[in-house]
Amino acid sequence: MTEVIETQLLINNKLVPASDNGSFELYSPHTGDLVAKVAEATRDDVNTAVDAAQAAFPAWSALSPLQRGAPLKKLADLHLQEKDELARLDAISMGKPVGTHGIDVHYAVTQYNYFAEAAYPQGHTSLNTPGFLNMSLRQPFGVVAIIIPWNAPLIFFAKKVAPALAAGNCVVVKSSEKAPLTPWKVSQWIEKCGFPPGVINILSGHGQTSGQALSEHMKIRALSFTGSTRTGRSIAVAAATSNFKKVVFELGGKSPSLVFDDADIEQAAKDIELSINSNSGQACFASSRVYVQEGIKSQFVEAITRVAKTRKLGDPTKPGINQGPQADKIQYENVQKYIALGKDEAGSTIDTGAGVTNNEVSPYHIHPVIFTDVPEGSRLTKEEVFGPVVIVNEFATEEEAIAKANNTEYGLYASLYTKDLERALRVAKKLESGMLGVNCTSPTNSWDMPFGGWKGSGTGRESLLESMEHYLEVKSIYVKVNGIGG
Ligand code: NAD
Repeated sequence: MTEVIETQLLINNKLVPASDNGSFELYSPHTGDLVAKVAEATRDDVNTAVDAAQAAFPAWSALSPLQRGAPLKKLADLHLQEKDELARLDAISMGKPVGTHGIDVHYAVTQYNYFAEAAYPQGHTSLNTPGFLNMSLRQPFGVVAIIIPWNAPLIFFAKKVAPALAAGNCVVVKSSEKAPLTPWKVSQWIEKCGFPPGVINILSGHGQTSGQALSEHMKIRALSFTGSTRTGRSIAVAAATSNFKKVVFELGGKSPSLVFDDADIEQAAKDIELSINSNSGQACFASSRVYVQEGIKSQFVEAITRVAKTRKLGDPTKPGINQGPQADKIQYENVQKYIALGKDEAGSTIDTGAGVTNNEVSPYHIHPVIFTDVPEGSRLTKEEVFGPVVIVNEFATEEEAIAKANNTEYGLYASLYTKDLERALRVAKKLESGMLGVNCTSPTNSWDMPFGGWKGSGTGRESLLESMEHYLEVKSIYVKVNGIGG
């Protein structure tokens, strides 16, 4: 039994309790132990944090990019120094195995270090209007709200906070109620890193209170959100009915993988197994719908089942484990609901945990499940499960594969496996998806390629090259200059 952590809010560089002293309890999804009492931010706390950010904005935005970058670099260094503690905190809050947490820290560090040095917002100039020298400026919004999910808190915190601050904004971040402990740790470093008071404010709490208050706040001019499509929709409504703040959305997915009969089937199965089962299936871009060409289904299903059975389920705080429990009771029950649906609807069900005895698993662990021949149009083919559950269906022709892959309201990540390069490029062009792997699948992505979704999977694109654009307003200035025309 570890000590119970008591978290606070970071407002104006002060660690404070919620204004009404409210808190909620957080339990380890593995042991069931109480691990933290987490401050529940109120509407008043949101207002205080926004006021602090607004007061900090003039001085922060007047600094040079390198001056703003100095504390970001210190934040990166602290992530590296404290990487083991960060891994432990995510393990006890949402069950991510410590042995798989290195990617989260590496991702965050890369964002802070990059934006510490590469943040030079640029407008442009024009002599194309006779008699004028025109220019555009790119300027920060002021106060930006950032709302993040629980499945990789440090990644989403960093990929939004670093570019927003680098662009000269001040931020109010709301962590997820399921994974508030790593953002709480970061809160304790902000003053030490040298950020002036009010530049970063970090709140914890539930979406209906602080998240909603941020979404409809009149002083917030931009909001960046990663989370479910359902929540994205309610934030869009709140933004539109308040002050039309700019919104950037990275939302859910139901990502298809197409495996043609000339593909390296072993490799495809290995990649897709990793995609769907890492982080216990709790990844936005997981390959959750697989379409294999007629004739290779049994070979593919045998291969993915074999790989899935090698997963090491157990205590997420122990090294060597690569699958922890689902993040909490709600997530566990939601995934079980879809498994029950699948058992009714699918042609066959492979439960990789059947007959397995493992004393290390806890009640919220779910062994990978593979469903085959699931009716197209069923809820299992349409809705995001967010668990270690994959569908394997068949197609006959290229056209059928494309039609099935695109038959979804989501469009985050698609992948295809074939040795025929022309087919790969032909199909890639037709798939409705923001990201696409050819002979690879998620989590493969790239620092300098736009990350984001089509259709219901989002509206923005984030990357080292793209992200800062979201946090800058554009102003055109028309300067009349006598004699400049000729
Ligand atoms: P969620 O939408 O339930 O919650 C995300 C955040 O929004 C949390 O901080 C929550 O407190 C807050 N929130 C909830 N209701 C709110 C409201 N009414 N107003 C404002 N804020 C509110 O999502 P989740 O369960 O935390 O995360 C899983 C989802 O996130 C999945 O759908 C997944 O696909 C998606 N996701 C997408 C990406 C991406 O890059 N596209 C990455 C990770 C996760």
